[in-house]
Amino acid sequence: MENWWQKPITALKGIGSKRAEAFARLEIVTIGDLLNYYPRLDSYIDYSHLSTIRELKTDGSRQIFEAEALRAVERVSGGGRRYAVITVKDETGYAEIFLFGAQRFQARRFKPGSRLLITGRAKPGRTAKAVSEVLLQPCDEDNLDRSVGILPVYNLTESLTQQNLRGAVRQALQLAKEYGLPETVPDSIRRQYGFPSRLEAVSNIHFPESTERFRSAKRRLVYEELFLLQCGLMLNREHNHDGRPGVKLARDGKTVQKVLQNLPFTLTGAQQKAWADISGDMEDVKPMHRLLQGDVGSGKTVIAALALAKAAENGFQGCIMAPTGILAQQHLETLTEFFKDTGISIEILTSNTKAAERREILQELAEGTLNVLVGTHALLQEDVVFAHLALVVTDEQHRFGVNQRAALVNKSDYAPDVLIMTATPIPRTLALTVYGDVETSVMRGMPPGRKAVETLCYTGDMRQKVYAGMVRQIEAGRQVYVVCASIEESEAMEGIRSVNDVYAELKKTWLKNIPCGLLHGKLKPAEKDEIMEAFAAGELKCLVTTTVIEVGVNVPNATLMIVENADRFGLAQLHQLRGRVGRGDKQSYCVLLTDNQEQDNLARLTVLHNSNDGFELAQRDLELRGAGQLFGLRQHGLPDLRLADILRDTDVLLAARKDATRVLAQPELRKEMLKGAANLFDSRFAGIFNS
Ligand code: ADP
Ligand code: MG
Repeated sequence: MENWWQKPITALKGIGSKRAEAFARLEIVTIGDLLNYYPRLDSYIDYSHLSTIRELKTDGSRQIFEAEALRAVERVSGGGRRYAVITVKDETGYAEIFLFGAQRFQARRFKPGSRLLITGRAKPGRTAKAVSEVLLQPCDEDNLDRSVGILPVYNLTESLTQQNLRGAVRQALQLAKEYGLPETVPDSIRRQYGFPSRLEAVSNIHFPESTERFRSAKRRLVYEELFLLQCGLMLNREHNHDGRPGVKLARDGKTVQKVLQNLPFTLTGAQQKAWADISGDMEDVKPMHRLLQGDVGSGKTVIAALALAKAAENGFQGCIMAPTGILAQQHLETLTEFFKDTGISIEILTSNTKAAERREILQELAEGTLNVLVGTHALLQEDVVFAHLALVVTDEQHRFGVNQRAALVNKSDYAPDVLIMTATPIPRTLALTVYGDVETSVMRGMPPGRKAVETLCYTGDMRQKVYAGMVRQIEAGRQVYVVCASIEESEAMEGIRSVNDVYAELKKTWLKNIPCGLLHGKLKPAEKDEIMEAFAAGELKCLVTTTVIEVGVNVPNATLMIVENADRFGLAQLHQLRGRVGRGDKQSYCVLLTDNQEQDNLARLTVLHNSNDGFELAQRDLELRGAGQLFGLRQHGLPDLRLADILRDTDVLLAARKDATRVLAQPELRKEMLKGAANLFDSRFAGIFNS
């Protein structure tokens, strides 16, 4: 039988098929989806707390105030973008309301002298406080329902209004009150934390009856998201570990020794420590699950090589999965070098592997004669089966989802050891969520003899001088990357120099007679690989590219990177990009170009000039941009959280983890939890509960 919350929202009054389409764009299809569409947490309108203009804080927080409209004007920005400014006043001062995009037409609706209720974020302006991201309501309109106290503000698409959303949610809540809203967390947990019922919580997250009720609603719903996420992940893991035995390897033997001898250098202290952790794990029968964090260029590949050699010398197989074909190819070359005279056999499997060759590789794999397989996502295909896989290494930059990693781990009769290598320092709680119970080895610092990349930051008026420097590098036999923030000039991303435009411009001017490549994400993988290979081979002198080159490619002859619109990138991302140069023995440079003259921006970019430490930069990024921006769960194949924040809600996360472990261990509670998860009727979570 269909439950009321599974009905399409067209069952609600005032929602026809046209409007339903607009809702669908917000991923709201059923009445249940609507109830799960929580308001923006920082944006409730609280009619009991109106500010005056003088009281408006200019810290970027959302606030609400009432004021009189004086005049409205339309203006055009330097970049040709139209916007409107309404000047308003109250008894304490003046403010300017900025309306961009389609919103600017609203300005014409308000006659001078009319009163407005305004929510938005204020910044100090030249003459008066400047308010943007606004929501405007005329005070005299009937629909201004002040009796309700606190009103939600939802993220919208163009054709929907706050009133549409609020009206629909009110109806849905009415149904919930009439027919009941099933529970989503076990009763005992609800009692333990003193949480309100689901009905009370959902109702108060949409239309808070008081600040207290809102707080306890939020507390419960944050917990609920994290608890169900943890339960889903643990179920997933149970499913993957399904009692297969782990593999216990012997102490390091001749093959590992030989690989160490083959290295043209000795391990750094950090590498030795990491290797001790990893080889210790591999000698334990419990499957290893370890995260190896090390800055770009810190030498993680060697560690992977040692682990793969250790698996091989014990008669087992290992594989290493890279996010792109070109990286897999580089790993193959490096590993082949390291494995010289060890008898370890190694092959590569990507989507470009020819059918006959692929057949042969699969056969050797299944027979157990192939020791090491390097590859891309192509390793995940079902017919890739190992005879005795004991080690799975993923070399990733947040490119593999939970389910992909699981697919690889399930390719053997044993529970293999898992080593995840990453250049991004990941906060502990996020690592626990994304990777489960994971141990961490961190390699700080760099191998000796590395010259730090010199980083310079210039504004756009220096661009031609920078390009002249680029040509000098090329004439000296070096290669250059020019990195751009977007592919096409689009209205939304105004002021951004697109990769197509920059390429066309350079080809006409500075690089007229110099072979260059153009690389971006819209190209086919084979095209990308071809261009990358031509650059790696030195045939192309300059590569104009988007961030697709972010992932660890190694072209030691590249000594200059120019980043256009550098202000559009996070510090950690710029650092990753910068890691593409400075890979040889020549002094390398990274030039950050920006047209954003604001002091904050320049100060932020200067941090890169002063620091070469990826961990420190990631920390700064976190402080500057917040966790949400940096660590979306979706890129890990997990549901995005609506209310919880993995970094901010650490305590709740850890409590929820503990509870999830306990609940899964008790059959009754487990049943109740599964029923609750089904009752959440939220498609975001379907992926982790149904796999
Ligand atoms: P990443 O951690 O970014 O994957 P790589 O493994 O590609 O880094 O190593 C970067 C470079 O440093 C490689 O050229 C590698 O040969 C070199 N390297 C690694 N370990 C050492 C070491 N202990 N001493 C000197 N050079 C090293
Ligand atoms: Mg690497």
